[in-house]
Amino acid sequence: MTDVIAAISTAMGEGGIGIVRMSGKDSLNIANKLFKGNKVDSLKENENRKLTYGHIIDPKDGEIIDEVLIVFMKGPYTYTREDMVEIYCHGGIISVRKILELVLENGARLAEAGEFTKRAFLNGRLDLSQAEAVIDMIRAKTDKSFEVSLNQLEGSISHKVKEIRNILLEMIAHIEVSIDFPDEDIEEVTYDELEEKARLVKEEIKKLLSTADRGKILKDGLNIVILGKPNVGKSSLLNAMLRENRAIVTNVPGTTRDIIEEYINIDGIPLKIMDTAGIRSTKDVVEKIGVDRAIDMVDKADLIIAVFDASESITDEDYEIIDIVKDKKSIVLLNKSDLPNEYDENDLKKLLPNKEIITTSIATGIGIDKLEQAIKEMFYAGELEIESDIIVTNMRHKDQLIKAKKNIEDGLEGIMLKIPLDCIEVDIKNCWENLGEISGDTVGEDILDKIFSEFCIGK
Ligand code: GDP
Repeated sequence: MTDVIAAISTAMGEGGIGIVRMSGKDSLNIANKLFKGNKVDSLKENENRKLTYGHIIDPKDGEIIDEVLIVFMKGPYTYTREDMVEIYCHGGIISVRKILELVLENGARLAEAGEFTKRAFLNGRLDLSQAEAVIDMIRAKTDKSFEVSLNQLEGSISHKVKEIRNILLEMIAHIEVSIDFPDEDIEEVTYDELEEKARLVKEEIKKLLSTADRGKILKDGLNIVILGKPNVGKSSLLNAMLRENRAIVTNVPGTTRDIIEEYINIDGIPLKIMDTAGIRSTKDVVEKIGVDRAIDMVDKADLIIAVFDASESITDEDYEIIDIVKDKKSIVLLNKSDLPNEYDENDLKKLLPNKEIITTSIATGIGIDKLEQAIKEMFYAGELEIESDIIVTNMRHKDQLIKAKKNIEDGLEGIMLKIPLDCIEVDIKNCWENLGEISGDTVGEDILDKIFSEFCIGK
């Protein structure tokens, strides 16, 4: 693994600066083929971590490519634990591209997605769950999910998993001793001790698993869909919520323009709100986005906010919406309460008997706080403050935990039945391996490739 990898590590687009980075033994030599400092000719190995000003020059023809700052960082105290060079040039796409090309012409090869982080993992700087936290941090949409990823990067999950694996290892050792030195008394003690430890392991795995669903919510945000016929006040609602709670607003690529996804944050609870704003001009929500799409959206939603207009009498479109939401987790808004009422809460209550109905006047800002309160209460019963800093947000981890739980349960059952110790050992070892896949201690090459391919290039 001595070849030098290189990539542009900043986002492509207009920006103040762009960074090209290299990792590998020969990074410094490659950099020195291209760099000419104002005060020094080249970067020196012993001037580790010193930011130096100068120019990148094409060695083929002496053309000045850009004015840069450059730094050499000596391994192992670097992100990858290898020698690294970072070149800070002007932002935009031209300069970074030209510099990357030069670096590649002079001996580096283009890094694969996530390869810097993969090297950090392979060189022992990060374990696998920490490496995965890096992706999550880059993708985090809210403060809270960033915080959880940061905790994971700092090893919160790794430590816990290691602790549990140590207990399993003790169990395995104990079994091996008993098998090697069979004796009635030792065996009796062994079953008792194994039972105690197996119960402990099961409890710890269960605790981690119980955070997993909450973890998903923190990472992705709760999916909320606002439904209602045209003109009832859906986009006014979204805008009102955004004004107060705006986190990072993204038009998520890949979704069509029919549906806009916005991320907001209510007291630290991330919500992804899907608004059908693009279809406002047409008559029927369901018709425009297609029945399938609507049903798909609604199915994926963790919560639906159904909006009705109190100033008009109820229409067929409203009945359709009522039909969609009546069996789903939803909050019902009866909007435009500032106008003369055509129908009121009681009428709606008859149609949606089990739903919480909130009377709002979104245009004048009335009732939005009640809605937000209801969302909070509904999902977290006021308890979503993160008391535990270990939260499983990664679906891969969750899968492994489920497998580990199954194996320890099988093992425990065997212990209770006092089946032969070597049979029990199989379950314990499986459990130990399942957990090892979380930290990357027992993970296969194919899984590694899959995980790192999710990274962007340059990370
Ligand atoms: P959408 O089609 O459901 O997204 O509805 P809009 O949010 O675009 O609102 C349609 C119209 O109703 C706009 O002119 C809003 O200003 C108005 N509107 C929204 N909420 C209220 C309200 O509570 N009271 C009144 N009087 N008008 C409202």
